[in-house]
Amino acid sequence: MELHDFRYDGTGSFDLSRYPTSARMDKQERPRIEEAMQANIERMAELQDRLYADGREGVIILFQAMDAAGKDSTIKRVMSGLNPQGVTVCSFKQPTHEELAHDYLWRAITHLPRRGYIGLYNRSYYEDVLTVRVHQMQTGYKMPARCKDLDEETFFTQRYRQIRDFERYLWENGYRLLKVMLNVGLDEQRKRFLERIDNPAKNWKFSASDLAERKLWPQHMKAFEQAIGATATPEAPWYVIPADQKWHARYLVSQAVVEVLEACDPHYPTVSEEQRAKLQQCREELTL
Ligand code: ATP
Ligand code: MG
Repeated sequence: MELHDFRYDGTGSFDLSRYPTSARMDKQERPRIEEAMQANIERMAELQDRLYADGREGVIILFQAMDAAGKDSTIKRVMSGLNPQGVTVCSFKQPTHEELAHDYLWRAITHLPRRGYIGLYNRSYYEDVLTVRVHQMQTGYKMPARCKDLDEETFFTQRYRQIRDFERYLWENGYRLLKVMLNVGLDEQRKRFLERIDNPAKNWKFSASDLAERKLWPQHMKAFEQAIGATATPEAPWYVIPADQKWHARYLVSQAVVEVLEACDPHYPTVSEEQRAKLQQCREELTL
C-alpha cells in the first residue's frame, strides 16, 4: 500500500472504516522502510532550505488523532532533519479564557507560519469540530443566539463550511496545507496506555481523562468521519495514516511531507545581470 491509498481529497463519499489502522507491513520490511524514511528526511532538509530562501509559499502540517496515536513522536522523528530556524511548532491545548473569548480560528491564525516557513500544528482548529462536537461544548459558548441556538447538525455544517473557506483563503494567500489523521486502533491504544502506566519515563504522558475519551471511541470516530468527509478538498486533502505500526506511519508521513514540499517547487532566488555585476564588483574589492 502506498501513500495515495490513504489520501482523501473529497472525491466520492468518505467512510473511515475503509481506512485501516494498520497496513500490516511485515517486520522484515522495517529496515528498508526506515532507510527510505531517512532518505525522505534528507530530501526534506534540501527542499526546506530552498523553501526558506524562496519565501513565496508557507506550509502548514497539522496532526489530529486520538491519544497515544503518535503525534508527538512523529513530529520528533519525521521533522528531525529540518532547520529549526524555518519551523514553528504549536500545540493546541484546551483553549484559554482569552482564546475562548475569540472566534475559534483566531488562535490558528495567530500561529500561522510566515511564507518560507513550515508550521507544525499538534492538534488544530479541527478540535473545534472533533472534541467540541463529541462533548457538545458549543452549547456552553458565550455567543449570541443566532450563532449557537442552532441544531447540532446546522452548527457543525456551518463550521465545516467555515473551515473549507478558511483553507481556501490560505491556499489563495500562498499557503499549502497537509492534514494528517494518525489513525490508531482501539487495541493498539490500549497497549500504548498500558506502556505509559508501566514505564515510569512515560507516566507523565498518561492522564486518567484519556480513559474517559477512550470510552467515547465510536463518537470520536464519527466526528472524525464527518469532519474529514466535509473538509477534504483537492487543495487541502486529508491523509488518514494507519498508525498501529509507528515505524511505517512515520515513513508515510515523511513521504507526504516530501510531496507537499515538492509541490511548492521552491527555487533559490535567481540573480539578475545587475546583481551579478555587483557581486563581481564586491569580489574584486575583497581580492584587491
Ligand atoms: P499528549 O498526546 O501528549 O497527551 P495532548 O495533545 O493530548 O498531548 P493534552 O494537554 O493531554 O495534550 O490535551 C489537550 C487537550 O485539549 C485534548 O484533550 C484536546 O482535545 C483538547 N483541546 C484542544 N483544542 C480544544 C478546543 N478547541 N476545544 C476543546 N478542547 C480542546
Ligand atoms: Mg493527552
